[in-house]
Amino acid sequence: MDLPTTAGMRRTVSGQEHTRGLPEAHALPPEQVAARLHVDPAVGLSGREAAERATVHGPNRLAEPARRPEWLKFLDQFRNWLIAILLIAAVVAGAIGDVKDAVVITIVLQINAVLGYLQERRAERSLEALRRMLVPTARVRRDGEVGIVEAHTLVPGDIVLLEAGDRVPADGRLLIAESVEVAEAALTGESQPVVKSVAAVGGNGPGRLAIVERTSVLFMNTALTRGRAEMIVTSTGMDTELGTIAEELRSGDEPPSPLQVQLDSLGRRLALLSGIAVLAYAATALVRGDTLSDLALRAVALAVAAIPEGLPAVLALTLAFGVYRMARRGAIVKRLASVESLGSATVVCSDKTGTLTLNEMTVRALWTGGTVYDVTGEGYGIDGTIEAHDASDERGRRDLRDAVLPFALCNDARVTDDGIIGDPTEAALIVLAAKAGVDADRARDELPRSGELPFDATTKYMATFHTESNGATRIHVKGALDVLLARCTGVLTNDRVRPLGDALRAEVVGVAARLGGTGLRVLGGATALVDAPGELRDLPALTLVSIAGIADPPRPQARDAVALCRTAGVAVKMITGDHADTAAAIARELDIRGEVVTGAELDRMTEDRLAAHVDDIGVFARVAPEHKVMIVRALSSRGHVVAMTGDGVNDAAALRAAHIGVAMGVTGTDVAKEAADMVLTDDDFSTIVRAVHEGRCIYDNIVKFVRFQLATNIGAILTLLGASLAGLPSPLTAPQLLWINIIMDGPPAMALAVDPAADDAMRRPPRDPAERILGARRFAAITRAGAVMAVGTVTLLALARPRVGTDTALTMAFTTFVLFQLFNALCARADDGPVLGRYQLRNRTLWLCLVGVLAVQAVAVQLPWARTVFGTAALNPVQWAVCLATASSVLLAELAFRAVRSTRRR
Ligand code: ATP
Repeated sequence: MDLPTTAGMRRTVSGQEHTRGLPEAHALPPEQVAARLHVDPAVGLSGREAAERATVHGPNRLAEPARRPEWLKFLDQFRNWLIAILLIAAVVAGAIGDVKDAVVITIVLQINAVLGYLQERRAERSLEALRRMLVPTARVRRDGEVGIVEAHTLVPGDIVLLEAGDRVPADGRLLIAESVEVAEAALTGESQPVVKSVAAVGGNGPGRLAIVERTSVLFMNTALTRGRAEMIVTSTGMDTELGTIAEELRSGDEPPSPLQVQLDSLGRRLALLSGIAVLAYAATALVRGDTLSDLALRAVALAVAAIPEGLPAVLALTLAFGVYRMARRGAIVKRLASVESLGSATVVCSDKTGTLTLNEMTVRALWTGGTVYDVTGEGYGIDGTIEAHDASDERGRRDLRDAVLPFALCNDARVTDDGIIGDPTEAALIVLAAKAGVDADRARDELPRSGELPFDATTKYMATFHTESNGATRIHVKGALDVLLARCTGVLTNDRVRPLGDALRAEVVGVAARLGGTGLRVLGGATALVDAPGELRDLPALTLVSIAGIADPPRPQARDAVALCRTAGVAVKMITGDHADTAAAIARELDIRGEVVTGAELDRMTEDRLAAHVDDIGVFARVAPEHKVMIVRALSSRGHVVAMTGDGVNDAAALRAAHIGVAMGVTGTDVAKEAADMVLTDDDFSTIVRAVHEGRCIYDNIVKFVRFQLATNIGAILTLLGASLAGLPSPLTAPQLLWINIIMDGPPAMALAVDPAADDAMRRPPRDPAERILGARRFAAITRAGAVMAVGTVTLLALARPRVGTDTALTMAFTTFVLFQLFNALCARADDGPVLGRYQLRNRTLWLCLVGVLAVQAVAVQLPWARTVFGTAALNPVQWAVCLATASSVLLAELAFRAVRSTRRR
């Protein structure tokens, strides 16, 4: 093809920009579209041309909504209603003449806003980095070579190659379409796939045909659900059909996760509690005849005490950091809420091939014409031999070229010096063919392909049509042996076709069972003469040519990961399209326990029967993707939290139905990745198990800092109420409380949020998904801790006041309350585990924070300028020691409580 100069192209291209690509592409023959876009489809654009066109058309991206400016994000920190209450408190304090309190409250709120803003920004950055890990890519032909590029670099004129499961990266005109069906729901809302073909449609000028009627073009963001296609990109980015409606599609913010909702409602309940406390206090104060300003000051302090200011920011950061950490270890979580489900997962349903196994296929056995052959050689190297298994078998010396022909021809893979391109199963068959003396590339040239039925996980076979030298058309098929046997009427033996009688069928089935029983994947090759490819959508009567036994070793870490799941109370179920014998053998190797059930058996079961049995099943073999939905439903009905893996286009429904849909990042289709909650960058089963572990840790840590922070809040409320009831002066002023809640509690809470995993994280059963973060047990623990803090602080105040005077006693009370937090952090960290133990030494950041808290409190009490801000008095070492001893009572009380509980249990 004659390519015009760059300058000419530029004019043309920029001219098109205003007419929004080639809107009439559907009505033009493909060659004309290629000519208009100045590209030879067989070669594609050159890298330079693509770069030049990119400068004219811009990136192939939908315009992003304008970013919220940073200063507005900072102001957002004040839009929180809890903060609003505090601001009102500051105003009240100012109004009654306590200017110092008003100023301190305002300053601390500023600090809180800055901290909150910084934490949010870090969380946002982590999530952005996460999104960058999932950039969509496209297979494109440029400079005559097919390669993978990031989808945003596509330009009009690019030649894009697509197969089932791919997301269409731009609008384009079909050049090749083999059995293509496309789901256009993203664009039209129509859930039924549309059949597409190369034939031009319409012709009455641009824009006359509805989107569904334009069957010769593909649209951005729709998905190929079947077949294989090549298209020439006609428009990109905002010029695409999707671009025109992009305004409506802009996704909003992620909805809050159940945990965030729980914490929000917790915050509201606390505010309510403080409201009641304020009223209760006001009633006693009025009875006692306190002044109005005193009452107002205490009310302000109570409001401040009750509000866990730092909690939302710490939660956001914990989740964001957690998912970022997971991503670095191979599991990209797309929705924060999934982190919670991961921690409570009770079943992991995993595909076999590629997830539990390495997906490194090597043919080890071949059966043809009644003889079993051993195949030697490693990996995808073509060095190796094919020798009769039984050396005395005379037929073992025959020419095997015909036997491997269906495997070589009905094949899209390529084996190069740098590795394989395409499906590993197919690559293994190319290697087998080479060992039998058939060069797949040459065979494909000599017997050109005239049509195909692409592989489909539901039909479990692939077929191609080839024109022979005499002009006849032959179909070559490879696929699951049981599927092929159902279509076979004969078997090729010694260059002649023998009818497939019962005896021969039994022999073939026996061979397959023997190969499968050793864990080999069994694939059949068959052939037949046909009239013409035509509209054939099903197989004709076939002649079985050969059987290949393919080894795919289990992943080395998979067995340990399965064992870890068992100790963690998480059941593992293998779900595979492979034969039951093969699946059972691999399951044995991995120690996946339970019955083996096939898809055909599932079809005969009612939903109730499956639900009743599902816990006993360990392997689901020969299943079609739609069975996965059945399995998820059955497991869910038993109260399980299900993680389900998937890679194919048909897996999307199961991935959505599962609590945690897990897509394969390497072999998975775009459709599966989009439907999933989590994407594995290494396709490895053990990464899922690690993610479950991480999910449990994140949840544990959230529990820890929520416990820590709320115990402080409740302690403060009870202290204020207690002091007031006891007729004592208020031991904690509003600025002191804010100081405690934000400055003193913030860093330890953050340290708890990034706590290393507890030893038993994977030794205990999964958390009940219905469990509230603050169930009765934890709420009791928090109230207990709060009560001890209140009793300790108020008692100390009451006892010290007559001895050291009011000012020093108040400072001692304030200091004791602060020091209570050191011990409170250790109790919260233990949650239900041992409070004292080596585990407590493991979080160095926490210890640093606790020492820091001590030092900062010393500053607040000992330095003169700080004393004026906080209204404190200096303490002597004995007074410090008394405070510390009193504060340790929260830890001692927890130990005592546990000792009593364990003796009672015994
Ligand atoms: P899993 O579901 O664990 O990933 P799988 O990869 O074997 O297992 P499928 O890819 O659905 O599952 O394959 C199902 C069956 O289809 C296989 O057992 C095999 O017999 C057959 N098969 C697999 N790949 C091909 C292929 N490229 N061409 C023809 N048949 C195939």
